[in-house]
Amino acid sequence: MVESGHPRHLVAVIGAGPAGLYASQYLARQGMKVVLFNRDIKPGGLAEYGIFPDKHKMRLGLKAQFKRILSMPGVTYQGNVSIGRAGDIKLDDLRGMGFQAIMVTTGAQENSWLGIPGENLDGVYQANDVVFHYNQLPERNLAEIKIGSQVAIIGVGNVMLDIVHYLRYENTVQTVTAFARRGPTQVKFDKLTLAPVADCLDLPAIEQAVNQAACEVENAGGDVGEFYALLEEAHNRAERCDSGLKFGMQFLRSPRRLIGDAGGRVRAIVFERNRLVRNGEVISARGTGEIETVPVDTVIFSIGSRVDEGFGLPVGHGTYVTNPEPRFPVDGISYEVYNPELCAQCEDIFVSGWARLASEGVVGLARKDAERGAKAVLQYLQTLKSSTDEDMEDVLSRIGSAKTKVVNFEGLQKLWDAEARIAADLGLEEYKFDSNEVMLRVIEEN
Ligand SMILES: Cc1cc2nc3c(=O)[nH]c(=O)nc-3n(C[C@H](O)[C@H](O)[C@H](O)COP(=O)(O)OP(=O)(O)OC[C@H]3O[C@@H](n4cnc5c(N)ncnc54)[C@H](O)[C@@H]3O)c2cc1C
Repeated sequence: MVESGHPRHLVAVIGAGPAGLYASQYLARQGMKVVLFNRDIKPGGLAEYGIFPDKHKMRLGLKAQFKRILSMPGVTYQGNVSIGRAGDIKLDDLRGMGFQAIMVTTGAQENSWLGIPGENLDGVYQANDVVFHYNQLPERNLAEIKIGSQVAIIGVGNVMLDIVHYLRYENTVQTVTAFARRGPTQVKFDKLTLAPVADCLDLPAIEQAVNQAACEVENAGGDVGEFYALLEEAHNRAERCDSGLKFGMQFLRSPRRLIGDAGGRVRAIVFERNRLVRNGEVISARGTGEIETVPVDTVIFSIGSRVDEGFGLPVGHGTYVTNPEPRFPVDGISYEVYNPELCAQCEDIFVSGWARLASEGVVGLARKDAERGAKAVLQYLQTLKSSTDEDMEDVLSRIGSAKTKVVNFEGLQKLWDAEARIAADLGLEEYKFDSNEVMLRVIEEN
């Protein structure tokens, strides 16, 4: 028994993004022994490889918190280890290693496609291709992204705006147009994320697009004034757009097909125009059959993420399926992975963060979700008859025999120190190694 009153149990947390880190902190504070596995060498997930590179204050603040969590005596970090059906260690093997509960916080690793013809043409990318490129995520960082001069982004959320922010610094780009299937009052971005690119807005073109949609917006009970207010608030905080890039938006359009040129590169998108249909609080888009072809040379899909189907847990609507009748609900929410085919629970497996709510919210929300999920894990552990008498050295040696080159907290500190030294030498706020090979070498040599 430990101070918290909970018997000590051995818990595997899979994925060291914000959700996994905060879940580990919560569990360790309750006296659990936590092993935090991470596919990437470095922890942080999208806080390290998603949040826009120039948000130094936020990124460094989170990193400092993450370091504190990883230095807690009850938390053992095991980076460069991927778990799951195609991973270094299978879920079943974790049970064999002595883990009594498993918390899956692997995030939503894949982007969604629409499944329309032409998505495999050159010049067509997923949001993650671009985000991981400018954030230098090893293994997922395409060496080259061929951005042309006329870019279309499908989707109107904050990730779209981060991509426009990045494209501001790409010399080739003249126009970026974000396409929404619904109207201007359904956009999903906020003024703070718009601010860095608000001065690039092509206001006459946007006004024209809003006017075109205004009738539909009004019929659905909306007010385009709200959209203009959002633009104005962002504009008041705008940075100067000196790149010449023109950033426009179009509404009420769903892509139906991408057309390629003779060389196999995308040259146009065929859209169907939509109207808005209100059903109670829900406003949805319905196709009108009216078709329009828009010339582009680059298309980026930014329509949300989904979990990795290869992980080996049941997936529905882009996330891992949870038990609709949870045994350990927390604030009415189910964190228990559920297998509808077998109509049984994966009793000891829990899920939280973006793995439970793909693309939903910011780091603060992932933290709340993870802490609630950790409470569910604790409730489950209290039902077990035995606590753990596993020695951590034995557990680590079992992990070490399943995977070589595991990176622990000591290795991370060497990496962080080396990155800080290089940043100081180069006069940069931050410096990042961009390949696993280099990181492993740095750890070995220091
Ligand atoms: C482009 C972008 C910009 C964003 N900007 C902001 C922002 O400015 N501010 C903000 O607060 N939020 C921002 N967010 C949201 C924030 O990043 C997420 O809310 C948060 O990262 C979700 O945390 P998570 O731990 O659930 O998932 P993730 O952060 O995705 O972490 C998942 C972790 O799991 C690991 N993993 C995956 N598969 C496996 C496996 N099989 N085995 C072991 N480990 C595995 C990964 O390596 C990763 O470390 C942004 C998100 C994106 C996509």
